[in-house]
Amino acid sequence: GKTDAKEVMNAVFNNFKMIHQDFLFGLDDSLSGPTYINMSRDHLEQILIVLSDNAVKYSQTRKEIHYAIARTSTMVQIAVQDFGEGISEEDAKHVFDRFYRVDKARSRKQGGNGLGLSIAQKLVEGYGGRIELESSLGNGSIFRLSLPIKVAKK
Ligand code: ATP
Repeated sequence: GKTDAKEVMNAVFNNFKMIHQDFLFGLDDSLSGPTYINMSRDHLEQILIVLSDNAVKYSQTRKEIHYAIARTSTMVQIAVQDFGEGISEEDAKHVFDRFYRVDKARSRKQGGNGLGLSIAQKLVEGYGGRIELESSLGNGSIFRLSLPIKVAKK
């Protein structure tokens, strides 16, 4: 596939901004043009929706979400940051596991199965990328994606 990572991120950003008007959205884009990756557009969109959906669900305390996109010579890096409840070091080890949810009672009210992140991680790794979490309890979370850039054919 030939997917422009920047276009997909902008589409999800605009969508969430429109749907969640009570949130403040920020976007930090250091790319000058399209950046193509080897991943289906639908898969990247699905991953960004999972991360954005979580950012909204778990940051009712401070309604602000920040996106950033940048690249190195080989990878596109996309970050989705919230300033909500955050994840403890202990829970952070498990959030990518299937069906894992930090607070079962609270989470049940909020809906969801604990599958979003495990599916996102499987997809990303299937394309040779990585997904990483940086978080601390009470201060919000940053999920960082790195995805291999499509190499131009000679
Ligand atoms: P769904 O299956 O609908 O995605 P879910 O949100 O419970 O439901 P995951 O997306 O896999 O499932 O997330 C797993 C758990 O990780 C969540 O239940 C939540 O406890 C925690 N979590 C995920 N994202 C965040 C976030 N941005 N801030 C705080 N906790 C989070």
